[in-house]
Parts: sequence; C-alpha cells; structure tokens
Amino acid sequence: MDNKAKLRMLPKIDEIVSLLGPLCEKYGRDMVTECARERIDEKRAALLSGGDCDVTIEGTAREIERELAAIFAPHLHPVVNATGVVLHTNLGRAVLSERAAMAAYKAARQYNNLEYDVEAGRRGSRYSHIEKLLRRVTGAEGAMVVNNNAAAVMLILSTMAEGKEVVVSRGELVEIGGAFRVPDIMARSGGYLVEVGTTNKTHPYDYENAVTENTGAFLKVHTSNFRVTGFTEEVTLEEMCRIGHERGIPVIYDLGSGLMSSMREAGITDEPMVLEAMAAGADVISFSGDKLLGGPQAGIIIGKKEYIEKMKKNPLTRAFRVDKMTFAALEETLRAYLDGSAKENIPTLAMIGRDTESLDRAARRLKNRLKGVKGLKAAVIDEKSQVGGGSVPSVFFDTKAVEVSHDSLSAAALEERLRKEHNIICRIVRERVVFDTRTLLEGDEGRIAEALKDICGVKA
Ligand SMILES: *Cc1c(COP(=O)(O)O)cnc(C)c1O
Repeated sequence: MDNKAKLRMLPKIDEIVSLLGPLCEKYGRDMVTECARERIDEKRAALLSGGDCDVTIEGTAREIERELAAIFAPHLHPVVNATGVVLHTNLGRAVLSERAAMAAYKAARQYNNLEYDVEAGRRGSRYSHIEKLLRRVTGAEGAMVVNNNAAAVMLILSTMAEGKEVVVSRGELVEIGGAFRVPDIMARSGGYLVEVGTTNKTHPYDYENAVTENTGAFLKVHTSNFRVTGFTEEVTLEEMCRIGHERGIPVIYDLGSGLMSSMREAGITDEPMVLEAMAAGADVISFSGDKLLGGPQAGIIIGKKEYIEKMKKNPLTRAFRVDKMTFAALEETLRAYLDGSAKENIPTLAMIGRDTESLDRAARRLKNRLKGVKGLKAAVIDEKSQVGGGSVPSVFFDTKAVEVSHDSLSAAALEERLRKEHNIICRIVRERVVFDTRTLLEGDEGRIAEALKDICGVKA
C-alpha cells in the first residue's frame, strides 16, 4: 500500500473517540479527543514525509491508551535507595520524619494561621513563629526562612552588600550542585566579588589588606563538596570576625549543611556546626533545610536582628518565600532538636548514626529472603556509605551490604532491570549488584527480595 492510500485510511477522530468510551469516562472526553487529534496529525505528517506508521483504528486506539496512562501516571514516585548515600540530591535529599511529614499533610489539607494573628484578629507575619523556634534552637537574635540555601545566600548578599565589595577567599569560590556558583550568585546579588588569597592558602593579612571604604562584608563559604589537602591554610571564622568587627565589617557564613549537634561518634568530624559558627561570632549564617538538618527543602538564615529585619523588607524575600507545608515540616523537624529526639526521629541522623550490628542484622535478613531465588548468589559484605548531598565528602562510614550475582544475568543487566522495572536504585561494585542497608526504609528489604524474585524467578 502506498502512502497516499494510507493517508486515506487514517481513522477519523470521532470514530476513535467513540471506540474509547471507557477512557473518556476515566480521563474526560476532551483529553481523549486531544490525544487522538495529536496522534492523527503525527501520523499524517509521517506519511507525507515518506515515513510509515500504523493506520488501523485499533492500533491507534492502543497508542492513545498508552499515552493517556503515561500522562496520568504520577511522575514523582517512590524509589528504593539502596545506594547507601544518605542525602542523595537526585533522590530527594532528606527523608522527613513521620511527625514532619504529617504536619505538612495537615497544613496542606486545612486552613491555617500562616499569616494571621489569631490573638489580635488581624494579619500576622508568616515568619514570626518559625523565627521564635529557630532562635530557641540556635540561640540567634533573628532568623528567617527562604526556599533553599542558594536563595538564602542571594538574599543575604543583596541585602547586606548591594553595590559594595564582598571579600572571599579564592579557596572558597565553590560550585555546588552545578548551578550554585559563588561568583555568579555574587554578580546577581549586586555585590562585587573581591577575591583574596590563593586556592590552597589564605592568610589573615589577605583580608586586612582587602578592606576599602566600600567593603560591605566578608563572606566565608564552607567547601561542602571537596577538601583541599596538603599545604593549606584557611583563616578561621573567629579570626575573620575579629578582623572584620575591628573595622565595622559584618561576616557572613554560608555553612552549607546545617549540622546542629555533633555527630562525632558517627565519624563526622570536619563538618562545621551551626552552634559553633554562632559562637565564633558570625553576623549572619545560612544553611540548607534538607541536608544534615534533615528537614524539608529550605534555606535558613540566622544572625543579628538588624540584618534579619532588613532582609525581611527586601523584595526578594517575597520572591523566595516558603510554602505553608515547608513551614509545618520545618517546625516539626526543629522541635525534635528541642526535645532531644533528633538523632532517633530524624531519618537522616538516624541513618548516619545506625550501628554496625543493626546494619548487619538488616543485611542478614535481606540475604535470607533471597534464598530460593533462581541463579542468584547473595552474600553479606562490608562496604562504605557516604553522607552525600554535597556534605562531608571525605567521610566514608563502615556499613553492611548484600552483594548479589546471577548465573546468567550480568550485574549491569540486573541493575538496569531493578531500576527500570522496580524503581530500586543500587550500585555495582566489582561486577556485583550491591544493596547498602543503611539507607533502606521500612518495607524496602521485602521490595528488593520481591523484585529479584520477579526478575530471576523462584526455584522450583
Ligand atoms: C548545598 C549548598 C548550597 C546550596 O544549598 P541549596 O539548599 O541546595 O540551595 C550553598 N552553599 C553551600 C556551601 C552548600 O553546601
């Protein structure tokens, strides 16, 4: 059949739509009609340009059904994180605590006093409550919250240093996550970057010599996702504060991760802590809500009241403002720090703090579940997991994992099927598929076992 004949055979839109009655019930007649029209247009174009396609009404209807199912399937769906990377930016960073997630759910489903002062019966501030809580947790004079830490840094610089010079060490001109680059954020904020020192060494006199009458601030940026080793020298935050404050210059610290209390016992030794940075005298500090703090995506700013009050009046604050669900989840996350339950109840901290025995038990349980899967060999092994999310790059924790190999499927083939068919994300180490138990949540062991059974079959 030539393409001209095929063009004449293309099914009519209303014929297709009436064939798809049940789909019209499910997705609405307009949606089905629109999909049918798009499909027919595509087919016509393909035939006119000499290509080929299925012109039967049944075939076309099946294509439309598949397309509608894809449109209505949620794009954001759960995955099993068996990588052992606790804060995996591609997998959504911090998992919220039950309490925080429930609070977000409630905020979404009910009216609330987001910007209403119930006592006074008039408009209130959306920041007042979270500010009180953050002040209590961190001891800061003032606090506010924006969408993420990138927005926080932007707002801080735009408020404190627009049209002024900001002194930054060359060792701290970082790029994080591809799009957050200190020089670019600086340019957008209206501040002028003054680079001092070298990549590996910056001295106190570098800051002293950089000061002019137009210096707006010193900025310290935590080198979250890399470490410089060898002959290095960095000016401490205390020292920067001493030099700055003697000259009336405020010191800003982009701390990155928001580690609230020491996790030294878990092996995190070189990550700056919020309270220490406060004690060192920084005027303004910012950090992410969804890194080591373990809460929702947010940028948290704490510091001197005069600067925080100015930030609240900056028009960017409106552009960077945070949703009610975020406030609700962040509040509950912060409360866990107040009542002392953080290390237990905040999943990020609980995962980092998990002891080897509990990881080992989980690995053995998973291995036992894999008995009877055809062609599969499983073993419990010692592995290393990482915090991730651009935090603590040099720390690798001892962990327990299950490594799996198959008689006929390669590790790459197994990994691909686990990922594509079962949304299980894992690593390949030495030609074996590895499931790190550190990041597995409730029910995940069962999901992994069922997926492997499905892919490999069960022994007769
Ligand atoms: C992660 C990070 C950022 C970006 O924070 P987001 O919350 O992802 O916007 C900025 N600065 C530092 C030092 C970081 O570690």
